[in-house]
Amino acid sequence: MSMRASVLNCPVDLLDINDALCIAKKAIEDKTNFQIITINPEMIMNAQKNEQFFKIIKNSNLNIMDGVGVKIALKLQGINKAQIRGVDFSRELVKLASENNYRIAFLGAKEEIIQKAKENFLNQYPNLNFVYVRNGYFSNDDEIINELKQVNPQILLVGLGSPKQEELIAKLKNELLGCVMVGVGGSFDVFSGIVKESPKIFQKLGLEWLYRTILQPERIKRIFPVLPIFLIKCIIASINKKG
Ligand code: UDP
Repeated sequence: MSMRASVLNCPVDLLDINDALCIAKKAIEDKTNFQIITINPEMIMNAQKNEQFFKIIKNSNLNIMDGVGVKIALKLQGINKAQIRGVDFSRELVKLASENNYRIAFLGAKEEIIQKAKENFLNQYPNLNFVYVRNGYFSNDDEIINELKQVNPQILLVGLGSPKQEELIAKLKNELLGCVMVGVGGSFDVFSGIVKESPKIFQKLGLEWLYRTILQPERIKRIFPVLPIFLIKCIIASINKKG
């Protein structure tokens, strides 16, 4: 098992993308339900005030570090680890599904987006075994859970935004059989080609959040003051630890 660190009491797994993929593959082969969270500062801050969400993060099987904020928080503890971008990880899971003929399901985003994302992946991997594709605008979780139980996916990507996606996956963990489930946020928008991925230079500098905020200025409300408070809390935590 990989090493685990803790950021403001939330577990964060220290691994690279290939380790994460091997662990996911093993879970599918062992027929274990497996929740993966691509954890970022917004989620960690939400967990500080939302007890139920905190429990979900604690009980998740793997929390891979997305978001440059988590990378900085770990650096304050003397841990150097590259972030795994949620979109990259999801793309690799789709590839894994194609290589192993796993049953795959997509849930989330608007109807035309999710259909386009499916179509784009099928162009790349024509043998992909899609068993379920549904948009993320529904009111009854139980209906979705029942539909998913019937098709029994082995890989499920859920893009409903956080914490909705993590809450639904936590419920599905007791219902499915041998499924790796990941909350993918807005990744389907990127896979559809309708929302442009940030340029490589922004990715390299860890400034994807800045690029997305420039394109969608309304996101600023989500980032501020969450991100600065997150960093201040992490600095205080690291000072207290050293002292
Ligand atoms: N979404 C959804 N159902 C909802 C609300 C949101 O499917 O009830 C989708 C939305 O269309 C978008 C994604 O969830 O594709 C959320 O993207 P966001 O950029 O908020 O997520 P982030 O990547 O920041 O976690």
